[in-house]
Amino acid sequence: MKRVFSRILNKNENKIDFKKLIEINKKNLFKTKRNSDFVESLMEFGALICRAKKPKCSICSISNICKYFKADKKFKQTKALKTKVKNYDVFCYIDKIKNKIALTKQNNLGFLKNFYLPLIKESYYNEKKKNWRFHSNFKNLISNKKLNINLYYKFSLKIPIHHQWFSLKRNNEFIPSFTKKIFKQISKIK
Ligand code: SF4
Repeated sequence: MKRVFSRILNKNENKIDFKKLIEINKKNLFKTKRNSDFVESLMEFGALICRAKKPKCSICSISNICKYFKADKKFKQTKALKTKVKNYDVFCYIDKIKNKIALTKQNNLGFLKNFYLPLIKESYYNEKKKNWRFHSNFKNLISNKKLNINLYYKFSLKIPIHHQWFSLKRNNEFIPSFTKKIFKQISKIK
């Protein structure tokens, strides 16, 4: 997300006070109640169009307001520090009969706050996951954070507070791509 803003402003990320920038533009940036959709779409935009290497400016719908695109002298991004891979456990409650999964917006992970996700916890070496079945391990990149995910599940009709059921097949709600990835994995359980 920071990369997209730094491109639009044609300024190095280190020279932008993002807190101030968002505070000043709060009214314009967050016009609707679908703030998490907006943040997710910005992340997708950064991953698909305003990519780290070779941004697709020729098909970008906001090139008319982008200073990087218009500038003769384009800023040079300082090399990103190597991101450390963090280990997380993802716990999925599944209603197998109705083909549903329980999601929550209460995960206490800054960059994933306010998104519908299964329960996510930072994982600690040797910690026992009693009553949970291990499903798979996969890597995921979210907002330049590298996550090493261990996916666990259990069949249960009881779910913790602040969780709600979502269909694994059809969804009218906005679901971030990270959650969809988990849907795909979980749907394979026989
Ligand atoms: S015009 Fe290019 S650099 Fe600017 S926001 Fe679009 S893709 Fe990014």
